[in-house]
Amino acid sequence: MKLVHAITLVALTLLATTATAQVTPQQSVLFTNVMVFDGTSEALRDVDVLVTGNTISQISEEPLAVIASTNMTVIDGAGRTLMPGLISSHVHLTHTLVDGGIPGWNAMTWEDLGAVATASAKEYLMMGFTTVRDMGGMADGFKRAIDKGLIEGPRIYPAGAYIAQTSGHGDLRMRGQPNAQLTGIQYSNLERLGIIRIADGVPNVLTAVRENFANGAVYIKLHAGGGISSEKDPLHTIQYTMEELKAADVATRNWDTYFTVHAYTTPTVNLALDAGAQAIDHAQMVDEKTIRRMARQGTFLTSNLSGMSEGLLAHPLYGNPANAQYVKTKAFMDASKNFAEWVKEHDVKWSFGDDMVLSTQVQFRQLVDHEKWYAGELFGNYFALKGMTSTPGQLAQLTGQTNPYPGTLGVIEEGAYADILLVDGNPLEDLAAIGADSGWFDAEPRTQNVESIRIIMKDGKIYKNTL
Ligand SMILES: [Zn+2]
Repeated sequence: MKLVHAITLVALTLLATTATAQVTPQQSVLFTNVMVFDGTSEALRDVDVLVTGNTISQISEEPLAVIASTNMTVIDGAGRTLMPGLISSHVHLTHTLVDGGIPGWNAMTWEDLGAVATASAKEYLMMGFTTVRDMGGMADGFKRAIDKGLIEGPRIYPAGAYIAQTSGHGDLRMRGQPNAQLTGIQYSNLERLGIIRIADGVPNVLTAVRENFANGAVYIKLHAGGGISSEKDPLHTIQYTMEELKAADVATRNWDTYFTVHAYTTPTVNLALDAGAQAIDHAQMVDEKTIRRMARQGTFLTSNLSGMSEGLLAHPLYGNPANAQYVKTKAFMDASKNFAEWVKEHDVKWSFGDDMVLSTQVQFRQLVDHEKWYAGELFGNYFALKGMTSTPGQLAQLTGQTNPYPGTLGVIEEGAYADILLVDGNPLEDLAAIGADSGWFDAEPRTQNVESIRIIMKDGKIYKNTL
């Protein structure tokens, strides 16, 4: 017994020594002479912010003394705004930058997908997004590469494969590819690559959800209603039954996390809420009663906004009357006219999500810049900024014990992750400080560098510094 005890003590001592050796010396960064938008309050605060390791360790109204140390970097912000790194709660890294629409996407190999995701992840980080919620199309392999430092990109909350019923919004098989549930053979490249999972009936939905968890998803996304870019599902359709959605609810709650649905309309959003959904994506076509219900229940809502703007009609796919997507776009625009007003009035927990897919690099940058501006235009800058910082930071907490980044995100407060931007100007007054642009397809194409974002720090590490 004594020997075992002694060995245990030695082992513990060794462990403690190793742990200490790994974390010291801690790098510190002191931001002085900055005005802070903390993600939750409407006024800027004149404080110093100290980062130690990957955490905001101290916020002080008194100037923090500079401790002479080789591990301490001091950054004089010259009165600029320091704020939380941005969060986009609806992205698709594997198919943001894809040519040729859905057929082009179907033709991709794993190399194409990896390359596209790598390029997209860097774009998001350079646009100030230090966290993204990947809403379908990747498990956690890519996320792990970023976390290890092999690739530069934001933190990723992956949903895993899109889960959809046959003929649902996520059924992106080419016409003529037989259904794997009937034939036992996956003819569709997107299914084989784990981008989509077609699952009908309670047992198949349970398997699809659990298969996503097995591959590292930290929450689940299902398609509960019609979409615009897809071809097989009219916009009015209700996808999945109460039983199927409830199965997803039980399976995700058993994993101590949540599911969200792609849903636009009043019946589809309410069906998902009845089944237990704690988050909804889109919902732009719902009535005011449904908005009030989401506010009352504390449902997290993520909506891309630019689709409600007439500017979308300049898009080659959605704006061409010869395309089925044009008809859907017009119906969507007509039904979403009061959406933003109701979301703001009832103070729904709204998060920013750009939902950019199947675009060129130029279109990607233009859309995200415009989406940032349009959020401010519809909601006011403060509400829009909360939707890019503290609100999605709370949404991240819904992943419970599955949360891959269990610290606090989206705020500048002591103990939170050091995900920080330093920007020219005051974003509460003008969102151009974070790269917002009122122009869209007509905007001047820019380089990857958003000039007004001077410093980008993620997890305590500086990825950009143009001071
Ligand atoms: Zn999407």
